[in-house]
Parts: sequence; structure tokens; C-alpha cells
Amino acid sequence: MEYTKELIGNNLLQHYLQKQVKSGTVHHANLIIGPEHIGKTTLISNLIADLLCTQIEDELSCLARKKRGLCNSCSMLKRDNHPNVNVISPESSGRISISRMRDEISSLNMSGFLPGKRVIVIHQADCMTREASNALLKVLEEPNDNIFFFLLTENSHEILPTIRSRCAHMRMNLVSKEELRKAYDLTDDSTKVIQGLPGLAHKFLDKRKQLAYQEEIIQWILLLTEKIYSKRLVIGRKIWPKTVSREHLINYLSILEDVCRDNLMLQMNVNDSVRYVFATKELQDLQRKTSVDDSMKALELINQYTIKLNQPIQAKILLDQILLKIYR
Ligand SMILES: [Zn+2]
Repeated sequence: MEYTKELIGNNLLQHYLQKQVKSGTVHHANLIIGPEHIGKTTLISNLIADLLCTQIEDELSCLARKKRGLCNSCSMLKRDNHPNVNVISPESSGRISISRMRDEISSLNMSGFLPGKRVIVIHQADCMTREASNALLKVLEEPNDNIFFFLLTENSHEILPTIRSRCAHMRMNLVSKEELRKAYDLTDDSTKVIQGLPGLAHKFLDKRKQLAYQEEIIQWILLLTEKIYSKRLVIGRKIWPKTVSREHLINYLSILEDVCRDNLMLQMNVNDSVRYVFATKELQDLQRKTSVDDSMKALELINQYTIKLNQPIQAKILLDQILLKIYR
């Protein structure tokens, strides 16, 4: 993880956590809830730096204060090799398995770590299998003053209720247009596309990145406008890599959902709510060739496939299935 990024937005929550570090009241299990790109990782990486820093001042770690000589802990965090911080993410299957969880838990009992606080971060915690969840639950049931868990998720309802009930919940809010404009030099159109998610801002700061991003969205709209499957695949080759991972598919589903929603907005004459304003021409073409009913069905289809992401999946096969059905 990166420990030197500044959090944009959600400052009250950050401040609240800094106070907890100062008063030594950080909960041993924390559930951080919010959409992708909102800044969950940035929020907790700053918190971890504060929690582990040995020269904290004014509630800020050496890293946050951009101090020249970092304390030992901050300097290890900066190199992302702090032995007391373990990070768990979904494996290639898209799940966090019991064996991965067991490895982490047994390492908690091993020596060889630095004395002091230990931290375990679980990205996409909703991807834990039931067995992995139960193993984690056992640890959470016997809290240790020096071990802190941070579970990050977009879908907290997918996490075992018994785990949820043992965590302090922190929900991250969408960031206001004013805050985004203050932090980044953004146009009104870009702010609209970002929709309160600071993690997307970097795509609009660099003109080349912005054009590449917009081009990808336009290709998706062209693909949906095309009804012939083989021609869809030709467009698709410009969009996705040879091997489509679960992460790719999650991203594609969210783009498809936005495109279908934009199309529905145009079909219902709510033009103000269109997100991909830079692709109005292509969206209008899609609108002419599809009906409101088609868009409702497309959104339902995307919803069904989003639920399937919680099972072990083969991303490319799922993507093909979606392309065979959507707007056809
Ligand atoms: Zn420090």
C-alpha cells in the first residue's frame, strides 16, 4: 500500500480516527464501507501510519507531516515493507480462501515481528469464503490490545453478520464537487464524470489519460449499439486484454451499468443526469436503436452478473455471456 497519499474528502471521518489514535481508542476491528475509488485505502493507510508512528505530533505521523527524518516505523511504511502490517486481497479465484486466512492468523502468533502494534488489512473483505470468515470471526472474538483489523468493502451486507457486529463501522461519503475542484484542477464536465470519487480524478488530470479513458467508454457504447455478436467482438478486441481478470470484469460491469443508465436517462429525457457527457453523440445513437424496456432489461442483466461475481468465476466466459445478451 501507499502511505503518503492525501485523502480528498471525508475529512470529518479522518479527523475522528486521528482523535481515536491520540486517545488510544481505535477499535480492534474496523469495517470501512464505501464505493470503489472513494479513498478507503488512503484513509486507512494514513490511519495505520498514525497508529504505528513512534514520533507522532499534532495527531499526525512523520509521513503525514512530511518530516525529513522519518521514524523507523514510518520509514518502513514508506518502503511498504513494515513487518507488522499484513495485507490480504482476493486471490485469482476472486475469493479470499481459508488457507490464506489461516496463514495470516497463524503468523499473528509467531515471533519475529517487531514488538508493538500489528495491523491486518483485508481488501474486498466481502470476498472471504464462509470458512475464511469463520476463521476470522474466531480471532475477532478474542480481541488482542495490540492487533488491529481493517476490513474494506463496497458491499458490507455480503459480510457475515457476526463479523459485522464485532466491527466499528465507518462509511465513506461521496466527495462534493467543491472539494474535488479544490483538490484538483478539473473542468465541470470532468467533475461530473468523476461523480464524487476522488480516485478517478487522476484520469482527468493528464490529457492523454483522459482521452484514453473517454475513448474506452466510447468503444463500449459503440459495442452496445452494434447488434451483431461477431462485430461486437471486433470492437471488444480494442478494449480488453487477452486475459480478462475478475478486476477487469468488475470495471467493465460498472462502465456498462453507467452507459445503460445514461441511455435510459436520454430515453426518458432526463438529459441533465447523463454522466458520460463527452460521448453524447454516441449515446444518442444508442438511444435511437434501443427502447426504455431494452435499457431496463440490460440493467437487470448487469445486476444478475454483478451478483455472480461473488462466486468463483471465469471472467472471460461471463463477459462473453453478457455480450451475447445485452441490448440484443
Ligand atoms: Zn513516524
